[in-house]
Amino acid sequence: MPTTPVIVRFAPSPTGPLHVGSARTALFNYLFAKQMGGKIILRFEDTDRERSNSEFEADILESLKWLELDFDEIYRQSERTAIYREALEKLISAGTAYISKEDINNTNNDKTKRGEVIRLRNPGQRIIFQDLIRGEISFDTTELGDFVIAKSLDEPLYHFAVVVDDWQMGVTHVIRGEDHISNTPRQILIQEALKVLRPIYAHIPLILAPDRSKLSKRHGAVSVTEYRGQGFLPDALLNYLALLGWNPGTDQEIFSRSELIKQFSLDRIQKGGAIFNLEKLNWLNREYLRRVPESIWDDIFPNDWPSALRAKVTPIIRERVSTLTEGHTLIESGEYDYFLAPPIVDKNLLKAPTTLSKTITLLESIPGADFQSQIIKSVLMPYADEAGRAAVLSTMRVVLTGKERSPDPFTLAEILGQAETLARLRKIFHDSQ
Ligand code: GLU
Repeated sequence: MPTTPVIVRFAPSPTGPLHVGSARTALFNYLFAKQMGGKIILRFEDTDRERSNSEFEADILESLKWLELDFDEIYRQSERTAIYREALEKLISAGTAYISKEDINNTNNDKTKRGEVIRLRNPGQRIIFQDLIRGEISFDTTELGDFVIAKSLDEPLYHFAVVVDDWQMGVTHVIRGEDHISNTPRQILIQEALKVLRPIYAHIPLILAPDRSKLSKRHGAVSVTEYRGQGFLPDALLNYLALLGWNPGTDQEIFSRSELIKQFSLDRIQKGGAIFNLEKLNWLNREYLRRVPESIWDDIFPNDWPSALRAKVTPIIRERVSTLTEGHTLIESGEYDYFLAPPIVDKNLLKAPTTLSKTITLLESIPGADFQSQIIKSVLMPYADEAGRAAVLSTMRVVLTGKERSPDPFTLAEILGQAETLARLRKIFHDSQ
């Protein structure tokens, strides 16, 4: 028996930039479609013309592209008015919907005027549906009354357009945020009036802030564009979003896209809210940054940084930051400018300037080709242990960097090179005589 191919959709309303919660909805739909060899549709739900805006649509498209979530078909509800009109007319002629003349409140000027709306004739039954994540959900729809499904034949409301589209597009599974659970009974009533098949529902848990309230702007970045701007890598964000509410059932945390497609399952989505954990996202980003070619860091440096120096300083930065943007900020702050030119040294910070003499002699004794941090360390450590580590090493560090905190002085010396290291040490030693 041929099985129906899976068709899912991601249906954002372009009333804001792509929220991470919506991106996760898109991702779960994408993973499910790919795993089942099915189709995924992108549908812009832009029937609310006042709130919808083409800039938000562009942001959503750009963010989905950046995350490499691609779609088989793209629609805009604003271009489908004729389809909704036909469906409305069908219901009206069947008597399951009717045009109602009533006093209509104009929200713009608070005036009431006589007008028409289209209402569904609600049989008022109990609606029961099986949700793949939440189990059986049951609603008494009596109190919904004959609810409005369109403002006119050319202005369907959200619930009506969703149902017509899901039907016309052959959607088999509706995977969406659990904030839509309460919309489902209305949508089922509309399906029943239209005599169309009910899709399978899977309502995924909301994304919560660490205080368990709904994740919103006051908690920080919420859009994909913001995370992109902060320097997160698309694969790291995607991996993070996959784990937000989905439990792979193992300890694995790093998933390639193909592993996600293989392992994802709607059965392992949790019911409760998923807490957005920025530390975990930072951790994943660091992991992904280690896996991409090091040249990705080149752009964090201003033009006056020679490329050989960039390559040497990159590992230091990489240990300290979670994103490229943080790395850029660190470089821009001037923290590492001592790699470009000798620092101004505050003599008061020099713990033991007299140790410089011996430090210089020892460093001079290292053949040029061996001037590497491990060797430098093995040459200096016996003296540092004898004369005091703080005295020898902190003095060397302050001379090389002008600072009391920095990477270890052996690494500094290697990066600066033997000639520059000795030049700095000799100058301060002579000045302090
Ligand atoms: N347009 C709705 C939203 O952005 C989604 C509707 C649906 O998935 O059924 O929340």
